[in-house]
Amino acid sequence: MSLDLDISTDGVLTADTNLVQSWADLNALKQSGARTVIVSAEGAMVRDSEGNELIDGIGGLWCVNAGHRRTEIIDAIKEQLDTLDFYSTFYNFTHPAAAALAVKLAELAPGTLNKVHFGNSGSVANETAIRILHHYYNRLGQPQKKRILSRHGAYHGSTNLAVAMTTPGYSEGWDKSGELVHHLRCPHHWREGGEMTEAEFLGVLKQDLLDTIQHYGAETIACMIAEPIMGAGGVIVPPEGYHTEMAAICRAHDIKYVTDEVVTAFGRLGHFFASKDVFGVQPDIINTAKGLTSGYQPLSATIMSDEIHEVISGPGGMFFHGMTYSGHPAAAAAGLANIALMEREQIPERVRTSGKRFEALLRQLEEFDIVGEVRGSHFMIGIEFVKDKATKAPFAPEELIGLRVAREAQKRGLIARPLGNILILSPTLIMDDAMIDRVADILRESIAALQSSL
Ligand code: PMP
Repeated sequence: MSLDLDISTDGVLTADTNLVQSWADLNALKQSGARTVIVSAEGAMVRDSEGNELIDGIGGLWCVNAGHRRTEIIDAIKEQLDTLDFYSTFYNFTHPAAAALAVKLAELAPGTLNKVHFGNSGSVANETAIRILHHYYNRLGQPQKKRILSRHGAYHGSTNLAVAMTTPGYSEGWDKSGELVHHLRCPHHWREGGEMTEAEFLGVLKQDLLDTIQHYGAETIACMIAEPIMGAGGVIVPPEGYHTEMAAICRAHDIKYVTDEVVTAFGRLGHFFASKDVFGVQPDIINTAKGLTSGYQPLSATIMSDEIHEVISGPGGMFFHGMTYSGHPAAAAAGLANIALMEREQIPERVRTSGKRFEALLRQLEEFDIVGEVRGSHFMIGIEFVKDKATKAPFAPEELIGLRVAREAQKRGLIARPLGNILILSPTLIMDDAMIDRVADILRESIAALQSSL
C-alpha cells in the first residue's frame, strides 16, 4: 500500500476515526471501535488485518459475484485507464467502453429492454427510472401520473427518493420525500400469510394492489417497483406467480412495472437477469448495479424499453439527467470484462447447480429450534431466528440474535450479515462444493453454539 498508513488493526482504526461508516450504529462503533479491517481478498475469501482468512459469505455486499481479484477484470480496468482515463457520456460525447456495454446489456436484458442509462449506484439507477417515467408521462400529456407503488420490506437505496421507496422501517426518525410513494403489502407468506395458503395470500396481495389503484386512480400512478426477491428487507421470495400477476394488473391499468435487480442479476439466481428467466415477468424497466461489475467499479444501469425511450427521445425537450460518472470508462470496462468472464466460465449456468446445493444445505438448518425459516434461492439466502418456532414469536431486538450468530460464524471463518433476527448469506458465486459444505458446517456450529447459550 503506497499510502503512509499503518495497516495493523490499531493503525487503521486510529486513522479511521475520520471515516463515517455506512448503515452502522455510529454510537456503538464510537464506544466499542469493534470494526473488522479487511485488507486483501482472493477468490471466495478475504483476509482481515489480524491475518484471519474468512469466507466472504456476503460477496462484499451482495456484489462480488465473479469472486475477488479476478485478473481479467483488473487488467481490463487498467488497460482502460491507460487508454482513456475519463470522458463523460454527456451532450454528444460517448466512448467505446460505455457504448459496448450498453450493446451487451441490451442483448442480455429481456424483450425490448434495449436502451441503457448508466449511473454509479443502485440508488441512482432507481432514481433514474423514476425521473425517466415522470418525464415520459409529462411528454405524453399526463403530468398527474406520478405516484410510485413500492412494498413494505423493500430496499431501493439511500438517496432521498430511493429511501422513500424503501420500507418505512429503514428510515425511522429520518426525513424523506415520500409523498408520491405508497407501500403495498409485503409479499412474505410465512410472516404475513396467517393461515392462508400461498395462493390465497397471493389473492390478498393482488386485491391490495387493485384497492390501491382504485383509491388513488390509475391516472395518478406511474409505476410499481419491485425487487424480484427482496434482499435487504430480509430475503423475501414472493408467492409463486406474484410478479406476473402484479405486472398484469399494472399493465391493465397503464402502470409501468419496474424491477430492481440490483442484487438478483448477474448470476446470483442462476441467470443474467431474474425478472423474465426466473419469475417470467417482462418489466418495462430493469435497474441493476452491484454484480454488473462484480463490485470492482461503481456502476449501475437503468435499462428501459424501446417504447419508453421512443417517448423520451421524441422531438422537443431536453433529457435533463445524468451523473458525471454515468458510464465511466473504467467502470464500463469492468462491466464488459466481468460479463465476458461470466459467459466464458458459465457462472450463471453453474450457479443453477452449486447455488441449488447451497440453498438445500442451508435449508436443513430449519432443524434447529431457533430457526424459524430458511428462505431465498440459490446464493441469496436469509435465515430467520425465532424465540418460539410454533408461534413464530421473534427474539427481542436487544437480544441481537443475528449479530451474535454472525459473530460465532466469523470466529469460525465465515462472514455473514446480521439483520435483526435474520442472517443473510449472499456469497461470491464461485465457491466449490467443499467450500459450500464448509459454510453450511460453520453455520450449523454457530447456530448450535448460540442455541445452547440461550
Ligand atoms: N436496490 C437493492 C435491491 C439493493 O439491494 C441496493 C443495495 N443493497 C440498492 C438498491 C442500492 O444500491 P446502492 O447501495 O448501490 O445505492
